[in-house]
Amino acid sequence: MPQGVKIICYADDLAVLTTAETSEGMIRKTEEALYYIYLWMNQNQLEVAPEKTTAILLNRKTKIGGIQFKVGGKYVKPTKYSEIPRNNTRYWANLQSTCKRCLRKSKQNCQSYMWTTSEPKRTVLKKKKSSCGINAKYNSIRRSCMGRGTKIPTDEKYIAFQQRKMALRICSAYHTISTDAVLVIAGLIPLHLAAEEKRELYVKAEINDEVKNYQRRGTYQKWQEEWDTSDKRRWTRKLIHNVEDWTSRKHGDVDYYITQFLSGHGVFMDFLHRIKKIRNGNCMYCDEIDDAEHTLFCCPRWENGRSALLSDVGMLTSDTLIMKMTKTSEIWGKVEAFMKEIIIEIGKDEKARNPKKK
Ligand SMILES: [Zn+2]
Repeated sequence: MPQGVKIICYADDLAVLTTAETSEGMIRKTEEALYYIYLWMNQNQLEVAPEKTTAILLNRKTKIGGIQFKVGGKYVKPTKYSEIPRNNTRYWANLQSTCKRCLRKSKQNCQSYMWTTSEPKRTVLKKKKSSCGINAKYNSIRRSCMGRGTKIPTDEKYIAFQQRKMALRICSAYHTISTDAVLVIAGLIPLHLAAEEKRELYVKAEINDEVKNYQRRGTYQKWQEEWDTSDKRRWTRKLIHNVEDWTSRKHGDVDYYITQFLSGHGVFMDFLHRIKKIRNGNCMYCDEIDDAEHTLFCCPRWENGRSALLSDVGMLTSDTLIMKMTKTSEIWGKVEAFMKEIIIEIGKDEKARNPKKK
């Protein structure tokens, strides 16, 4: 396929997505792609249906003028995205199903990165984030449709659910974690805010970096307000005060071990007791109530590791932990190693206590 042309297939449905600098380039690339598709279909005794073919121009500024594409011997003239009538439910339904398919596909990508890759962690995280970006993009199209007052059936819940799943995979969190907390830990802007940002950008006359940065700051502010007023996840909020500082940090990946401490959902007795896995929520080493805070800052079992860490990085409290971790990658690495050691040791001690349990 020519550069800048993407093909999305599903059963007997086919979408050709072309990006180009100029209208001429777009026509040339699309016709070339359509020609290849025609050849392939011909070889496989298939036929394209020109009467069912539609084209949408996803750009406000380009004028349709003489733009048209030859499909199966007929010319198809594109409609402008902003000019599709609101009552044309077929267009919106098609757009919606394409969005859903892309969402599913990027979720699969995200999962495969999670389980099969052996690349350095940071790269993986970036890739995972970018596949989430795809979702945000497609969903923002959906959202802007909804903002225009169209009456397509909406499934915001489904999309929010998919974003939650992605966030769970990015930071390997327990499934009991609340959505707002997992999105903050994974550093994913909630879709309703990301979509609102895109929608506001969409109606702007001129879009440049300054405008984008201004919108992004507004989004962070809204996210922060939601985070501050959320009545759940008080522990995570105690650690992560500022979502912007946390999300835009320059180093540090969240993983299975760190996430347990950030969320409080992990191998801590109090949590396991709350989800009715065990009868008693007290620490198996000192009989205090065992939560993430106790394990990290108080429990005598980890005193040696803790004093070694504190002598390296200075005083740590729940209020200053994240601030210090995000300051330098060395501190992040040391705290991460300490957290990992604790979780692994708890696993071993638990196994020694209950050898029959898997
Ligand atoms: Zn203890």
